[in-house]
Amino acid sequence: MDTLHLEAVVTEPIFPAWLSGKDIQLFVLRLDRIDKEISGNKFFKLKYYLEAFPETGFSSIGTFGGAYSNHIAATAAACQRLHIPCRGIIRGEEPEIYSHTLQLAQRKGMRLHFVSRADYRDKKNLMARHPDVFWINEGGLGEEGVQGAATILENISDKHFFTHIISAVGTGTTVAGLIRAALPGQKVIGVSVMKANEELEKTIRAMAGISGQNDDFQLWQDYHFGGYARKNALLLEFMNQLWQETRLPTDFVYTAKAMYAVREEMEQGQIANGSKILFVHTGGLQGNLSLPPGSLAFLQCN
Ligand SMILES: *Cc1c(COP(=O)(O)O)cnc(C)c1O
Repeated sequence: MDTLHLEAVVTEPIFPAWLSGKDIQLFVLRLDRIDKEISGNKFFKLKYYLEAFPETGFSSIGTFGGAYSNHIAATAAACQRLHIPCRGIIRGEEPEIYSHTLQLAQRKGMRLHFVSRADYRDKKNLMARHPDVFWINEGGLGEEGVQGAATILENISDKHFFTHIISAVGTGTTVAGLIRAALPGQKVIGVSVMKANEELEKTIRAMAGISGQNDDFQLWQDYHFGGYARKNALLLEFMNQLWQETRLPTDFVYTAKAMYAVREEMEQGQIANGSKILFVHTGGLQGNLSLPPGSLAFLQCN
C-alpha cells in the first residue's frame, strides 16, 4: 500500500480563539492526511490484519459495519489496493439510495450483504455462512487492532514533549493502543462519541492491559451530543469556526466531538496550566459527505 501518505502525517500546533490567553499548547497529529479513503486510525487498526492475511490461507476478507462506517470504507479501499476480495456485512435493510460510504465500498469491489439489525447481532452465525472468509471484527476491534494503533505514536518526532494524548473513542481499540504506547506519567484521554456506556472504560483498560487503578487514563463520556452520529447546530458551528480559525477540518461523528470536549474541559479549568496536548486527528472526514450540502464550510479538505 505504497500509495498511502505517511509522510504527510505531521504534528502541527493550532491556535483557536478559545486557547488564547491560556498557558496550554495544543498540537494535532494529522492522521487524516494519510489517505482520503483509508483514513486516520483505520489504517493503523487494519495494518496487522492485512499483513497476516496472506499467511492465513483464507481466500477473502470480511468485516462488519453500518452504512456510514469509516471502517467499511477503509477496508474496502485497502482490499482493492492489495487485490484481496472482500465483503462487508452491513447493519440494516438495503437502502434505496446508498450512502457515500456504501457507494465507495461498492466502487472498490466490496460485496455488500445487508442484514437486519437482529441478524447483525448474531455475528457468529453470519460468519459461519462464509467459512472461506478471514473475518475482521467491526471497527478492527481486537489484539491486532490494538497493536496497530500502538504504532500511531511512531509518527511523532518527540513523544516526550507531550503531557496529554487525546483521541475520540468508538470501540476503544485506538485509545487502548495509545495507552500502550504512551510514556509513564503521560495522560491518555479518550472522548467517547456514544451514549454513556459503563462497560466501555473497563473494556478499554482490559484491551490496553492496565489496571483499574491506573489514573493515567481517563474516559470522558459527556460529549456524545445525544449519541453515535448525532449532531446539532452547536456542533456544526463549532466545526465551522474551528475551520475558519485554524483550517483544521474535523468530522462530525468523532473528531469534532473530541475537540469540542477539549475546549469545554479547558474552559472548566480541568486541564492544568503548562499542559502540552497531542490531539490525535483520527480522520473520518468522508463521513461529512452524509451531511446536507452547505452544512460545512469545508468537506474533506486536507
Ligand atoms: C473509527 C473512528 C474512531 C474510533 O476508533 P476506535 O478505535 O473504534 O475507538 C475515532 N475517530 C474516527 C475518525 C474514526 O473513524
